[in-house]
Amino acid sequence: MRIGVPTETAAGEHRVALVPEVVGKLKAQGLEVVVQNGAGAGALLPDSAFADAGAELTGDAAAVWGCDVVVKIAPPDPEEVRGLGSGSILVGFLAPLSSPQTTRALADAHATAFAMEAIPRISRAQSMDALSSQSNVSGYEAALLGAEHMGRFYPMLMTAAGTIPPAKVLVLGAGVAGLQALATARRLGARTTGYDVRPEVAEQVRSLGAQWLDLGLEAGGEGGYARELTAEERATQQQALTDAIKGFDVVITTALVPGRPAPRLVTEEAVQGMKPGSVIVDLAGESGGNCELTEPGETVVRHDVKIVSPLNLPARMPEHASQLFARNVLALLELLVGEDGALRLDFEDEIVAGACIVRDGEIVHPGARAAVEGVAGAAPGVAASGAPGVGTSGATAGETRSAADVDAPSGGAPR
Ligand code: NAD
Repeated sequence: MRIGVPTETAAGEHRVALVPEVVGKLKAQGLEVVVQNGAGAGALLPDSAFADAGAELTGDAAAVWGCDVVVKIAPPDPEEVRGLGSGSILVGFLAPLSSPQTTRALADAHATAFAMEAIPRISRAQSMDALSSQSNVSGYEAALLGAEHMGRFYPMLMTAAGTIPPAKVLVLGAGVAGLQALATARRLGARTTGYDVRPEVAEQVRSLGAQWLDLGLEAGGEGGYARELTAEERATQQQALTDAIKGFDVVITTALVPGRPAPRLVTEEAVQGMKPGSVIVDLAGESGGNCELTEPGETVVRHDVKIVSPLNLPARMPEHASQLFARNVLALLELLVGEDGALRLDFEDEIVAGACIVRDGEIVHPGARAAVEGVAGAAPGVAASGAPGVGTSGATAGETRSAADVDAPSGGAPR
């Protein structure tokens, strides 16, 4: 069986779906890997490293797309999908909730496709959880961006010229990315505080040495995700946050609700109340942003506060982001491929069934189908992000996110 690794074509996408380390493991299992020339260049992985690991290199994209299995990071464009061989399968972030054109193209091509975002977040699938692996990268990068843009120190400094107090960092949304942002900011010496509408994460926030901001609002939803707030709850939350964030130097926002626009947590009034020189890093830009003044993909200064909205943060750290993604893909492939090296698609397996969005041309993922049919809100419990950039570790063994529900950050892609 041949596995193809095309060069990513989306603007700013520097990651690659497989790395030489994983190519070597697939070769050891008797599988052939075909890598497009330059596919790893953005992650500083030269063709020679893939060749040394046993991959076949080619400049012919059609040969890569014609493999039995094609593995990719970002959703393919319809032209790429048309290059899939008959009976081939595609594995990657496919944005089932936010990119209906991808799903439609896959159905038209009579393909079978597995979306990394749709893998159920159960304990058996943790090694395949690319939402989490890429959100970890996003959270780390977000903390660094906050430090870079602030113009103040994170740590407390006691110097001959006097003492500098530590920066205060607030993280709104304590999922995978939020927890990693808290951990990273703390390692850099900041005084950290975390907030979420799922009270069960308070313990995880505290375990990272951060304070828990309790606004008395609970909004747990399906599959371990948060639900969307009512208009009244939203107004209460915005008012409480306007008061709470005044004293913080950096506010990192990561709040997402599957299949819905990002919740607006930080209003213009709240930004006005912050100290000049403070920074907001909004990781939810791909879903519209958590801050009212966010301009997705831009860095703007409003009321003397810098609002940074990076897109596809994992692509800013392509080597490790690719390595983690490739290991997630390897774990999934181990489930899809039998010991004889041939495809064995067991649709009785909840991971295989949950991750599959298109099977032999039929759209089988409820959220993807709803998006194609233009149903607002798609299926309940669906995350529309692309890891976004967000996701860590707060994963609890046995927790199940409905497979029907996910669509996230391609480590960048909008959930
Ligand atoms: P996410 O990226 O979908 O959302 C980020 C955070 O935003 C979440 O913690 C959410 O509660 C929060 N949020 C949403 N609306 C909010 C609002 N109005 N105000 C404040 N915060 C708000 O989340 P994620 O990082 O993908 O994780 C979501 C869930 O999945 C968690 O329960 C996590 O523990 C679980 N998970 C499970 C596994 C597993 O393998 N079992 C793995 C990873 C994550």
